Amino acid sequence: MKYDLHSHSTYSDGTLTPTQLLQRAADKRVDVLALTDHDNTDGLAEARKIADDNGVQLVNGVEISATWSKRLLHIVGLGVDPNNAELAAGLKQMQNARSERAQRMAKDLARHGIEGAYEGAQEYSKEGLLSRTHFARFLIDKGYAKDMKQVFKRYLVNGKPGYVNSEWAPLADAVSWIKAAGGVAVVAHPARYKLTMTKMKEMLADFVEYGGEGIEVIGSGHNDDDIRITTALATEYGLMSSVGSDFHDPEKGRRELGHVAPLPEQCVPIWQHSSLSLNKIN
Ligand code: AMP
Ligand code: MN
Ligand code: MN
Ligand code: MN
Repeated sequence: MKYDLHSHSTYSDGTLTPTQLLQRAADKRVDVLALTDHDNTDGLAEARKIADDNGVQLVNGVEISATWSKRLLHIVGLGVDPNNAELAAGLKQMQNARSERAQRMAKDLARHGIEGAYEGAQEYSKEGLLSRTHFARFLIDKGYAKDMKQVFKRYLVNGKPGYVNSEWAPLADAVSWIKAAGGVAVVAHPARYKLTMTKMKEMLADFVEYGGEGIEVIGSGHNDDDIRITTALATEYGLMSSVGSDFHDPEKGRRELGHVAPLPEQCVPIWQHSSLSLNKIN
């Protein structure tokens, strides 16, 4: 069985529609796919229609931007009910925060001589949610940087043009919305946060206390060392292990859909979680 439990569509900063994403999942022989758009579950309805026909089992997901100790974390929710009122209300707040942030980002870019970034970024967002990725694509196409790597060095990051502070969901709230919607909360790509081991452990202790249950052991940007360290942390904190490519884009993406390393033997796979109803196909 091939599992990929982290991916994006045009409902956030991915470039494939949910339909195209599900088609690609089938092409790449993914058996179980989670669509986990940033702060948004609106693509799940379209994804569900296709998944039933093309042999890919869809897990309803979301990737919530959360704040912990003044840092940004991404928390993936798996098996969420997108119609749950508490989750929907939380995500609505996040979407408003994103629109408001996008306007401040554009103002900051204008101060640095780059005009029209708000409208420019909107052109790249098919469904209206605005992320830094849409600004990045605008900046690349206008010639301000040659690729994603370069644009996120020169712009949109702390201390560079286009970066503004933003308040995301407190970690406790992100976990609580996911649980209210019947889902399982998973720390996304832990190695990407560059936390010291002390901070990582503090964060995981809080995450578990709030009701978090999983961690991506195979996550985007994880090398062999990261996988080893994350496996040990999963064991220490009693977390189940997840696997996700964090696929965004077939052209310029770093990661292909379904291109994920196997979980180490000692991990307890998140797909055995009773709330995901995937155990019957193990
Ligand atoms: P946002 O959630 O709007 O702040 O945007 C964050 C998104 O930007 C992430 O989900 C990635 O898709 C993208 N991103 C951030 N840093 C990088 C990077 N160094 N290279 C490529 N994409 C990045
Ligand atoms: Mn993204
Ligand atoms: Mn992420
Ligand atoms: Mn992601």
